[in-house]
Amino acid sequence: MRVLFIFLDGIGLGENDPEINPLARAKMPNLNELLDGRSLIKDSAPFIGEYATLLAIDPVVGVSGLPQSATGQGILVTGINIPAELGYHYGPKPNPEVAAFLEDGTLFSRFAKAGMKTTLLNAYPPRYFDGIDSGKRLYSSIPLAVTNAGLPLFRHEDLFAGRALSADFTGAGWRTILGFPDAPGMDPHQAGRKLAALAKEYDFSLFEYWASDYAGHKQQMETAVELMETFDRVLGGVLDEMKDASGKMGDELLVLITSDHGNMEDLSTRKHTNANVPALVIGDKSARAEFTRGMTDLTHIAPAIWRAVEKP
Ligand SMILES: [Zn+2]
Repeated sequence: MRVLFIFLDGIGLGENDPEINPLARAKMPNLNELLDGRSLIKDSAPFIGEYATLLAIDPVVGVSGLPQSATGQGILVTGINIPAELGYHYGPKPNPEVAAFLEDGTLFSRFAKAGMKTTLLNAYPPRYFDGIDSGKRLYSSIPLAVTNAGLPLFRHEDLFAGRALSADFTGAGWRTILGFPDAPGMDPHQAGRKLAALAKEYDFSLFEYWASDYAGHKQQMETAVELMETFDRVLGGVLDEMKDASGKMGDELLVLITSDHGNMEDLSTRKHTNANVPALVIGDKSARAEFTRGMTDLTHIAPAIWRAVEKP
């Protein structure tokens, strides 16, 4: 089975409090429909519906301190409890100790070695590669795992050719900030359709969304609500692309939406939180049941993806 992993940085399951939690305030009709009217908050999990399963999973993994991105993303792509191995959570970018866990045995290296098609669907701008080449910028854990697996990261040419997506989904950032005024534009729904359509060309693909963590650190309620409402429209596009001509959910693609740690769900603090994170799984019901079996913390994600993708 094909798996699309939509990684949302810094999204925990928080309180049903619109004063501090943008997920309790944003209008997210597509998500609500998947969850029979529920929102992406603590009280909604666990949930098993017609098209989606929502679990609350633990990103703290028994290690003191607040969970961080380098170790959290490292767990997600390896299944290894890296904070327990090292004795600490670490981030945002991996230090050499965390990076050592990403050299091999990641989702990307495992699928690449097995001759399966796998990729990171984000397109990166020239200045990203300039930063890496000059040593001024470090890869975060997910792109590091991808490049260590010998896989290329997508570039602006790939965005223009429709092989990859903009980190903001719509491409607006490429046109206004990154200096590509003619970059292809999509509305969020189209971007969602594109994301799922591209995912159907791979055994395993991942899309990384980091603006949610950024908005959490900045404690920007309005921005955070806007991001989540945009994401909901993306989700609507993903769902439409998963359905067949008769409107029935197909069984070709399983979509996982999860995070590395909480942050945005509590804007009363600019730090990460120790809240559980959502594991939202969309697709065929029996595939979802198998995928989520025994899933209680971040270490269970990578093995679940291995099982799903490697199943004939
Ligand atoms: Zn962060």
